[in-house]
Amino acid sequence: MIGNSKKDLSLFEFQKKFKTERDCLEHLVLAKWGDGFKCKKCSHDHFCKGIKELDRQCSKCNYIESPTAGTLFHRVKFPLLKAFYIIYFVSTNKKGITSTELSRKLDLKQKVCWLFKRKVMKAMQSSGTFLLEGVVEVDETFVGGSDENSRGRKKGTKKLVVVAIEKKKKGVSRFYAKVIEHADALSLGGFMRDNIYDKAEITTDQWTGYQPLDKEFENMTHMKSGKKGENFPELHRVIMNFKSWLRGMHHHVKDLQEYINEYTYRFNRSFMKGNIFDNLMNRMINTEPYTYKSIIS
Ligand SMILES: [Zn+2]
Repeated sequence: MIGNSKKDLSLFEFQKKFKTERDCLEHLVLAKWGDGFKCKKCSHDHFCKGIKELDRQCSKCNYIESPTAGTLFHRVKFPLLKAFYIIYFVSTNKKGITSTELSRKLDLKQKVCWLFKRKVMKAMQSSGTFLLEGVVEVDETFVGGSDENSRGRKKGTKKLVVVAIEKKKKGVSRFYAKVIEHADALSLGGFMRDNIYDKAEITTDQWTGYQPLDKEFENMTHMKSGKKGENFPELHRVIMNFKSWLRGMHHHVKDLQEYINEYTYRFNRSFMKGNIFDNLMNRMINTEPYTYKSIIS
């Protein structure tokens, strides 16, 4: 892992560090092979130069690996420096950045920015390592995407989302959310197992979907339902803020879960090692390629 400072990289520092394509490639080389080279095909640890300058060729099986291979930068069709800028803006802008804004700033087509940003969002997916603990609340909500506020909206376009928050003092320290098909014990339990420590003090409402999970989550209580949002004011504030952020995303929301991943990633940043730019960069390098084909299908 590169970078240990918790402090955010300023735009000035970023620009000093990354001036050329070569700077970006060298960053990838250091992140991938800083601890030593190991051939992907045969695990041999000696290499010679490949055809392109920073490529490495295994001296046993001759397999050539580029610095971008096996990362989310694989086959990026525009300058790597611009891709690094996208990661910088997405990670450091408090509210994120739309593909339209990225397009204006970086002189790239909006569609190109949108597609690459989808890859970045993939890297923002929760690692599932840091389960919510202590005082936790769980509830579901409907998220309606672009027609959120319009009258006569079709119910069919709304998505059901289960949300869990971890409370610290009067605030919310972290939260996770997931798009689910049904609010049944199977879906709710799956989400809770993946995101909440089983000894946490969990509060839900009295919805039947939560009841069968009492055995697994022994400190769970079910509160009588009040008016909408009355029971869980902090949780509903988090949901409201998320929805208003989502409405500002201009472009139609194709995959709601990825927007949830992006939002919660920034929200939960206190649990990251190093600064947020280094963290996201390391995730980009350690996440297997995600093809455009799979994004647009
Ligand atoms: Zn080899």
